[in-house]
Amino acid sequence: MTKRDYYEILGINKNASKDEIKKTYKKLALKYHPDRNKEKGAEEKFKEISEAYAVLSDDTKKQQYDTYGHAGFDQRYSQEDIFRGADFGSVFEDLFGESSNIFDMFFGGNFNRGRRQRRGNDLQYNLTIDFEEAAFGIDKEVTINKDIECSKCQGSGAEHGELEQCSTCQGSGMQKRTQRTPFGMFQTTTTCGNCNGEGEVSKKVCLNCNGNGVEKKSKKIKIKIPKGIDNGQFLRIRGEGQDIKNGSSGDLIVVVNVKAHKYFTRDENNIHLDFPISFSQAALGDEVKVPTLEKEVKMKIPSGTQSHTLFRLKGKGIEDVNGYGKGDEFVRVIVKTPSKTNKKQKELFDSLAKENKEKLKIEKGFLDKVKDVFG
Ligand SMILES: [Zn+2]
Ligand SMILES: [Zn+2]
Repeated sequence: MTKRDYYEILGINKNASKDEIKKTYKKLALKYHPDRNKEKGAEEKFKEISEAYAVLSDDTKKQQYDTYGHAGFDQRYSQEDIFRGADFGSVFEDLFGESSNIFDMFFGGNFNRGRRQRRGNDLQYNLTIDFEEAAFGIDKEVTINKDIECSKCQGSGAEHGELEQCSTCQGSGMQKRTQRTPFGMFQTTTTCGNCNGEGEVSKKVCLNCNGNGVEKKSKKIKIKIPKGIDNGQFLRIRGEGQDIKNGSSGDLIVVVNVKAHKYFTRDENNIHLDFPISFSQAALGDEVKVPTLEKEVKMKIPSGTQSHTLFRLKGKGIEDVNGYGKGDEFVRVIVKTPSKTNKKQKELFDSLAKENKEKLKIEKGFLDKVKDVFG
C-alpha cells in the first residue's frame, strides 16, 4: 500500500514554515472535522490530514520523514507514536472552543471519552551485527526477558480469571469530573481509578502474578534485519515489548550497532577502501584485482598514477535500506615505497636516479610486486 506524500496531502511545499503548516492544517481540519462534516470519507480524510500535520509540525519527525520517506519513517514510528505528543490542542481550542483529544479520537474511540487503551512499555535491545550482515541483511533470533501475559490467569490478574463488578464506578469504568479551564467549565469523564476503566475487579488476586496480569519470562524473537541498515538505526518490532494487564503490548525497539570492517569503511551507502600498489604499478600502470563486498573486480591503474588517487567503482557500495539504489565503492590507491632493496634493485634505482625524470624508461617488473594486504 502506498501512502500519499504528507506535503501533498496538505498541499504545501517542503519549505513551508511551521506557521504555514499549522494554518493550512487548521483550514483543512475545519472542513473535514467529523463534528462538522458528515459526508462519507470525511473522517478518513480528517485522519489523513491530521497524520500529515502530526509529522510535519514536529521538527524531529519532519526531519526523519524528509530523510527517510514513508518507508523508513513508518519503520521508526507506529501510528500511535505519530500522533503522540503532536500539538493539536492549540489548533482545536481555537476551532471548537474545547480541547478535542485527537489521540483518543483515533486510538481510544470517541471524543471526550476517558477510557484510553493502555499500552505496555516499549523495550530496547541493542543488537551488534557484522558489516556484511548490515550490507546484505540477515535474520537474527534474540532472547528478550520481559513481561508476558500471566499463564495462570490469562492476564486477568484474578485467580481462575474470576472478576466482579467495580463498586466505585458501578461497572461503567468511568468517573465524571468537572474541570475549570481557560475556556470555561467542562464536565469531563475520566477513567475509573479503582478498576482502570475495566468496570471489573478481581474477586481474588492471582498469586502467580500478584494481580499484575503479567510475569517475567524470556522469549525468543525473530528479527529481520533489512539490507542496507546502518550503524545506529533502529527497527520497531510491533507488539514485542512489555505486555500489560488489560492493554496492548508495547513494541521492541532494536538498535543496530554495526561492527567495523577490516578493510572497508562506510559513508552513507558508499564504501571506502585503501588499496596499496607498488611504485612500478603506479609508474607504469597495471590492472589489479580489488576486493568489493561481493567478489573481486578488475580495476585499471593508469600509468603515472599518484598516491592517494581516488577511483570509483560504480554500484559496488551498499544497497539503500529504503530501496533508493546502490552506493559506490571508492578505492584510494596508496603507492608503497619499498623499505628494503636488494643489490639488483639498488643498482636499478641508482641508474634510474641518474636518468632525467622526464625520460623515465624502466622495465616492467623490476621490483617485486608489493604483496597487497588482501593477497
Ligand atoms: Zn496471574
Ligand atoms: Zn471502576
